[in-house]
This record gives sequence, C-alpha cells and structure tokens, in this order.
Amino acid sequence: MTSRRRATRPPSQGKSRPRVVVVGANFAGLAAAQHLDGRYAVTVIDRSPWFEWLPNIHELLSGVKRPADLRLPRARLVKRAGHRFVRAEVVRIEVPDGAVVTATGRRFPFDACIVAVGGVDETFGVPGAERNALSFKSVDECAEIGRRLAQLARREGPASVVIVGGGFEGIEALGEILRRYGDRKGLRVSLVEAGPRLMPKSPASIDRAVRRHCASHDVRFLTGTRVTRVTPTRVHVTGGKPLRSDLTIWTGGVKAPPLLRASGLADRDGRWAPVTQALRSKHHDNVFVIGDAAGLPQPLDKQAYYALQMGVCAAGNVERALAGRRLREFKPSAKGMLVAFGALDTFLIAGRSVIASPALAAAKEAVFQVTMAQLDPPLGGDALRGAARRIVGSARRRLLSP
Ligand SMILES: Cc1cc2nc3c(=O)[nH]c(=O)nc-3n(C[C@H](O)[C@H](O)[C@H](O)COP(=O)(O)OP(=O)(O)OC[C@H]3O[C@@H](n4cnc5c(N)ncnc54)[C@H](O)[C@@H]3O)c2cc1C
Repeated sequence: MTSRRRATRPPSQGKSRPRVVVVGANFAGLAAAQHLDGRYAVTVIDRSPWFEWLPNIHELLSGVKRPADLRLPRARLVKRAGHRFVRAEVVRIEVPDGAVVTATGRRFPFDACIVAVGGVDETFGVPGAERNALSFKSVDECAEIGRRLAQLARREGPASVVIVGGGFEGIEALGEILRRYGDRKGLRVSLVEAGPRLMPKSPASIDRAVRRHCASHDVRFLTGTRVTRVTPTRVHVTGGKPLRSDLTIWTGGVKAPPLLRASGLADRDGRWAPVTQALRSKHHDNVFVIGDAAGLPQPLDKQAYYALQMGVCAAGNVERALAGRRLREFKPSAKGMLVAFGALDTFLIAGRSVIASPALAAAKEAVFQVTMAQLDPPLGGDALRGAARRIVGSARRRLLSP
C-alpha cells in the first residue's frame, strides 16, 4: 500500500458543490451525514437498508425486542438530512482517483470521503468457528439465535448452549437466555473466556455478581480457557474435555474489515485504519475514518457513543479541510457503559467504578428510546408510528417476560 499522504482535493470547480461520500451509515456514518449540510453533494452508501441499534440486540434472544424495534430505514434518515442514500456493497476506495467503487462496478467520485465501516468478527483462525458458531453482530444474526434458542427450548431432554467470549456481549447474551429460558429443565449454558475472569477489562465485582446470579442455574464458567475448534456439536477447549453444544454463540471479539487494508487505509489485515486526532487518515488527507474502524493515536473502546461523537467531529473537519482551514481535534467525552444482565441485573461501568442495580435497566431502555427518537424524530407518519410501536411494544414485552 502507498504511505504517501494525498492532499485534500480542491473542491470541484465552478458552481458545483464539493462531493462527499460517506461509506457505512450506522452510528458514525449516519451522525456525520446528519451534520453535513446542503453546501455539499453528499452520497451515503451502506450495504443494508436499515440503521441498526446494536447495543440492545441481545434482547432479541429473549424476545423482549423484535427486529423492527431496533431498526430505522436509512433511506428516510438520509433523505431527511438532504442527501442521497445508495444501498450497495463497497469493495474498494480508490483514493488516488477519488472514487468509491461498489460490487456492481458503480463509481462514486469524491472530493472528501468519510469511512465508517465498523468491524467484523474476530475468530482468531479457530477452525470451524465461522461455519459452526452463530455470530452476534447484527439484528438478523441475533434474531436467528433467538429462533434457534426457541426451537431448542421446545425440544425434549437436555440442551446445551455454549457462549464463546465473556466480554459485555457474552454477558448480555447469557442474561437474556436466563431471562427467557432460565426455568427450562435440562438447559445447560457454558461460557468460555480466555481472560482470567468475566469482563476482564472491567472491575472484578462484575464477575462476582454474575456468578452469584447464576448460582441457581446450570451455568458453567470456563475462564482462562481458549477455544481451539468448533464442530456442529462440540466446542473444543484448552485443558478440558470438549463441550457438547447444540448452539454455539460467538462473541469473541472484533477486528477491522478487509476494505480498510484493500483501500490502503490500514497497514495490515485486521488492523484499524490509523488516523490523526482530527480523525484524518494518516495515509490520505482527503479521507476521514471514524467509529469502530478508526485507529486513534490513543485507542478508545469501541462504543456507539464515541462513534456518534466522531461522526459529528468528522463532518466539521471535512468542511474545514475542503475550505483549507485548520482541523479540530476529536475530544471524546466518556459517558459510562450500561451492561444488562437480563432481568437479573444491570451494571453501569464508569472507569474503575461499577454501580449494579436491576433498576438501571430502565436507564438503558431510556438511552435506546431517546436516541432512536433523536435519530428519527417522530414528527408524524411512519416515524411517529415507529416510535409508538417501539415504546409500547418494548414496555409490554418487558413486563410480560418471565
Ligand atoms: C452486541 C453488541 C452490543 C453492544 N453494546 C454496546 C453498548 O451497550 N454501548 C455502546 O456504546 N456500544 C455498544 N456496542 C458497540 C457499538 O455498537 C459500536 O461501537 C458501534 O456500532 C460502532 O459504530 P460504527 O458506525 O463505527 O460501526 P457499525 O455500527 O458497525 O456500522 C458500520 C456500518 O458500515 C456498513 N458497512 C460495512 N462495510 C461496508 C461495505 N463494504 N459496504 C457498505 N457498507 C458497509 C455496515 O452495514 C454498517 O451499517 C455493542 C456492539 C455489539 C455488537
């Protein structure tokens, strides 16, 4: 790949507006698009027609949320911001030519490009993981896990579920399984974590609380244990017998998508795209990389609220770059993270402090409802109907869930 920095293209000549292409339109890309105004000809490209609220997708496992609760139509959101939405898979960003190329060969020329493509599953090359474990990264994937769990629960006899990864995703998955199926006789859940305890990057009190809540359920925790192979019915681990598994859920980590390396934005496969503190690519001056895909000088947790903040910052910096002005540095403001453990508990993590209370579930729900309403203001028509359905449906199913 080239490591030569490319100067920001001078905006297109004459009266035509500078062209900005945003690749990926979830938290980071959508926020960027919503903060660019009509002085720019903005094209927003994403492979999926839906904005997806990922921080609550674990609730699809218990049925507390339905796919429609967690989705908003991108075309509507982008149109409301005054821009063009194109549904397409981007296969290359040809930075020297200033064009984004899709799988069908369409080319979208740009003066500046914002790349917000998130991450993909990290399976660490474990044989069989991609084929035999279910991924936990999208609404469709978690809805599929929910369906498979329901089938398993209806079956007679013992049933075994293995969750790979004891980070916040694995903990949230376990909590939802217990919320809905904790009383199902013969259900065993095993959770495998390579680190020395659950949520290894967070205070140890979370590990203790989760184990306490699980004491009356058939849940096994295998910490300090690595998965070495996944077959359709077994999960092989270091230092022990293979675990029988009717359903294996993979929450083992995240890495950069191949597009970053293929476009000369990342130095190696699976690495995040290095950016300056102003979110500008270290390799190309007319490209900004934001959200999970960005490799900042001081690495940040991959969180939705940072992605939203980066979107706002990048929109401002694209304007400044195109006008030849000095860029502003991205200053993240930490908000604390809410990790739900089904109906049993919710943890608010702020640095090394943790507050645990089932009542915090209401705060997590409020963040979801308020931010969805901000992204798609319920001003009437479909947006209003969607907001009403989200609020009423979520409340009813939460109250009715066991
Ligand atoms: C299960 C789970 C729970 C989480 N819980 C929390 C939480 O409680 N709090 C929190 O703050 N964060 C949470 N996160 C993290 C948060 O969701 C991410 O940090 C956030 O989604 C990152 O936003 P992003 O816009 O950078 O990327 P993403 O949200 O991943 O969006 C990337 C977008 O790019 C599109 N795209 C990618 N490649 C291409 C391509 N080649 N062509 C076209 N389109 C493409 C994708 O379709 C997608 O829409 C959670 C994540 C998961 C998976």
